[in-house]
Amino acid sequence: MEHFDCVVIGGGMVGATSALTLAQLGLKVALVEKFTPKLFTAEQAFDLRVSAISIASENLLTQVGAWQHIQQWRSCPYKRLGVGESGSTYTEFNAKDIEQRHLGHIVENRLLQLALWQEIEKLENIHLFCPESLEALDQTTDKAIVTLTNSILTAKLVVGADGAQSKVRQMSGIGITGWDYKQSAMLINVETSLAQQDITWQQFAPTGPVAFLPLAGTSDLGGYGSLVWYHQPDEIARLAALSNIQLKQEILKNFPEKLGDINVIAKGSFPLTRRHANTYQHKRVLLLGDAAHTISPMAGQGVNLGFKDVLALQHVIAEAIDGGEAWYDEQVLARYEKARRSDNLLMMSTMDALYLGFSHPSPVVKGLRNLALLAINKVPVLNSTIKNKALAYACGL
Ligand SMILES: Cc1cc2nc3c(=O)[nH]c(=O)nc-3n(C[C@H](O)[C@H](O)[C@H](O)COP(=O)(O)OP(=O)(O)OC[C@H]3O[C@@H](n4cnc5c(N)ncnc54)[C@H](O)[C@@H]3O)c2cc1C
Repeated sequence: MEHFDCVVIGGGMVGATSALTLAQLGLKVALVEKFTPKLFTAEQAFDLRVSAISIASENLLTQVGAWQHIQQWRSCPYKRLGVGESGSTYTEFNAKDIEQRHLGHIVENRLLQLALWQEIEKLENIHLFCPESLEALDQTTDKAIVTLTNSILTAKLVVGADGAQSKVRQMSGIGITGWDYKQSAMLINVETSLAQQDITWQQFAPTGPVAFLPLAGTSDLGGYGSLVWYHQPDEIARLAALSNIQLKQEILKNFPEKLGDINVIAKGSFPLTRRHANTYQHKRVLLLGDAAHTISPMAGQGVNLGFKDVLALQHVIAEAIDGGEAWYDEQVLARYEKARRSDNLLMMSTMDALYLGFSHPSPVVKGLRNLALLAINKVPVLNSTIKNKALAYACGL
């Protein structure tokens, strides 16, 4: 039975970052993951799962050494963010307004994970257990006992970063509140007739928004992009069953003209859920990232919230170590939840308001939301305060 300060379950983007930040504090860390990320080659097709990485997340990834790999591999910066409603209002946010060079980067999830793993392999105080899976978790003694498929580990702290269906959460008896949105999302990678773009935009419709995220590089047609199409689950299932040529015709009919011509390269669909753990902490277990909170991807904030969790935990433990406290004490760990819960809840509630506000058929609701968008766009005082504050918050600044 090997002993660790921390055992992190889940080596995805959030778990791998957390393992690195905990190791930076001098702790002995075990990272447990089911699957090894595939290595990168420049000829590889884009992954379907991509994330809009905020400036704050980029800073954290630079701190742990992963961002440098991403810059050498593949990512696409964006400077502008457009939000509108079909046939009516449109507002655009610009990095210049908050004195930044860009608002974020679109990065493939797998490359982010791979970059983190390359840094993990350099550190002697992180032990990777992969492929391994959590089988049981015992918190009845003063140490947590973590049973994996092939090994048994003990730890002062177990970090659950094992995603939306977290086994750590279930095995610790932590309940959740949540529901399934009456929407699914289809992710579609395309070649576009426009060369690499510096804008990401989202256009709302009563059935759900459609969105464009730019991808890096030059294609035979021009550039690349990732499209997100939100709709009722039945409609997404119908679209997913179409050939790439048929899907292209549907996209051209339903996306705004500014998309230009496209060719579909790859597609996949995901149900949308909202989950919030009733507590982020139970005895020697802490939850981070999607294990603690799963939100609608509409504002591209899911993994960015997870990275904020990682920073908060590193900060809480660092302060405890500096202050001579037992960093794994429940009272110390409770400070992590205090630092993160309300921020996560605020983002989840904003996503709910967006979902309800834009899917509501009432002309009154439609009038109010158009008025709000118009006011933000046209009234200079609102423009420079609300707009810039919202933008800075979305960038994690
Ligand atoms: C359609 C869609 C689009 C999105 N777009 C964005 C975006 O633009 N920006 C953004 O910020 N967020 C986005 N998100 C959300 C984002 O993908 C998630 O918030 C993010 O993946 C959460 O990271 P995580 O590391 O917490 O969990 P995960 O990515 O789910 O990783 C969990 C890891 O744990 C491992 N694991 C699970 N169980 C076990 C076990 N028992 N034992 C060992 N290992 C285990 C898994 O293999 C996995 O590697 C999007 C989500 C969806 C569905």
